[in-house]
Amino acid sequence: MYCPFCTATDTKVIDSRLVADGHQIRRRRECLACHERYTTFETAELVMPRIIKRDGSREPFNEDKMRSGLVRALEKRPVSTEQVELSINKLKSQLRATGEREVTSEMLGKLIMAQLKELDKVAYLRFASVYLSFEDISEFADEIARLGREKKTK
Ligand SMILES: [Zn+2]
Repeated sequence: MYCPFCTATDTKVIDSRLVADGHQIRRRRECLACHERYTTFETAELVMPRIIKRDGSREPFNEDKMRSGLVRALEKRPVSTEQVELSINKLKSQLRATGEREVTSEMLGKLIMAQLKELDKVAYLRFASVYLSFEDISEFADEIARLGREKKTK
């Protein structure tokens, strides 16, 4: 990159450190031409895949929409806003980690369900009952039975 002082391109990195909880790298650089020092921040490019809806149409990933879905499922449940935000960050990393440019809404739904399952069983069931289509109902019934068994063994 160009030195902001003299526009030379040769710089030397003096120091690098992780900032913003490891989401960013801060580098101190020194221009080899004019010896001025400056700081750059690097962040991985955060490209979210687009969502393929059930009808085949595509829409951009919408974080607010996902958040409101989670919040609705978690209404009056003992889960803090911080936990919700952590889950949202995890979901976003999982989506990015697919490396796909497009993912299906089914896949997104399954990722959300997996997160809710960890957060709160009641919220998980609420979300699943709204989310799962009719053909998945028997699978869903099995899931409820299984959760019931898990509870008893605790
Ligand atoms: Zn310079």
